[in-house]
Amino acid sequence: FDLLQREDPEIASVLLDELDRLRGGVQLIASENFASPAVLAALGSTLTNKYAEGYPGRRYYAGCEVVDRAEQLAIDRAKRLFGAEHVNVQPHSGASANLAAYAALLQPGDTVLAMALSHGGHLTHGSKVNFSGRWFDVVAYGVRRDTELIDYDEVRELALRHQPKMIICGATSYSRKIDFAAFRGIADEVGAWLLADVAHTIGLMAGDALPSAVPYADVVTFTTHKALRGPRGGGIMCTRELAPRVDRAVFPFVQGGPLMHAVAAKAVAFGEALRPEFARYARQVVANAQVLADALAAEGMRSVSGGTDSHLALIDLRDVGVSGAVAEQRCGAAGITLNRNAIPYDPEPPTVTSGIRVGTPCVTTQGMGAEEMKAVASMVAQAIRNPDAVGEIRERVAALTSLHQIYPSEL
Ligand code: PLP
Repeated sequence: FDLLQREDPEIASVLLDELDRLRGGVQLIASENFASPAVLAALGSTLTNKYAEGYPGRRYYAGCEVVDRAEQLAIDRAKRLFGAEHVNVQPHSGASANLAAYAALLQPGDTVLAMALSHGGHLTHGSKVNFSGRWFDVVAYGVRRDTELIDYDEVRELALRHQPKMIICGATSYSRKIDFAAFRGIADEVGAWLLADVAHTIGLMAGDALPSAVPYADVVTFTTHKALRGPRGGGIMCTRELAPRVDRAVFPFVQGGPLMHAVAAKAVAFGEALRPEFARYARQVVANAQVLADALAAEGMRSVSGGTDSHLALIDLRDVGVSGAVAEQRCGAAGITLNRNAIPYDPEPPTVTSGIRVGTPCVTTQGMGAEEMKAVASMVAQAIRNPDAVGEIRERVAALTSLHQIYPSEL
């Protein structure tokens, strides 16, 4: 870091300021985490220099014998962790992994059945501003108005009516267990591929805190930077039969050279997730989310669907009369980072929303437990209700975070 400070003080100051921001606040963004120093070391390595188009042992560039070892380790560890027949660790992100999954299984114009963005699905599940909505004919399912849970009868009805080539399960802001067996049954009934996009929950699957999609889905896409706590990136798991199609879809169809420093960092993260302490972490992430959701409900901020089985809760703020956008801004001013989020059947537009999404991967990595979650809920509620108390809440935030630092104050 001293070298960076000498060579490029402007970027060095960005790194220091971001470190201060991370250390000085409570991070409740459900899709983020604190990567370990070992993951960061692999990311900041000379492996970034290497071109390695292709796959281990069959590259289009010379000099890949060393980086091959990193990719093979990542593949072998991910296979062991998830019991998958085949893993591709090259996707640069969750969105790239999804693009490759579509490319492996479909032709443009094919019909896809996926969860509506407004009910918790992801942009890559059919939004008109994304390749998925532009190049495919996407039919959306949602959650029931009364239970706020996925309506499996509706999924089946839509599948029978529209005969999709692929059904997607998995979401961005859905807090409940997904019944992968039910989706498998529906996909089989209509002869569709089943894609499970577990970008959000892969870390919980790795730690056995949520059921795995691997035994049910033809293809499973994931990210490595959320609850899994690895570097920013994606991956794909699939059956042995689909392996050649998936590999060709990632390279050369969607991507060029893989980011070998990121692939090495993924191997480190899979290695960390294979340790018993990671399963304890994953279970604590869920326990913390449940305490946080219950404590917010006690403050008059109910969870959509009444609670959570995962690392996140979607909070309906209509009873407190504050929009998601205002809540996000008030919490941010108090040092609590969380994001506004549409709730199902939201009367407000997506830029405003009636809800917020809170997640516990970061605070759990910091070693926080049930008591701290109750304190965090009280700070969130105070920040949302009483913007005048921002100074007092900032002090409470600083007192809490000073006891739970992950990264040292200097780089
Ligand atoms: N799929 C789901 C369900 C997600 O929630 C996300 C990101 O939040 C993605 C895909 C995309 O991941 P990335 O941001 O790495 O492209």
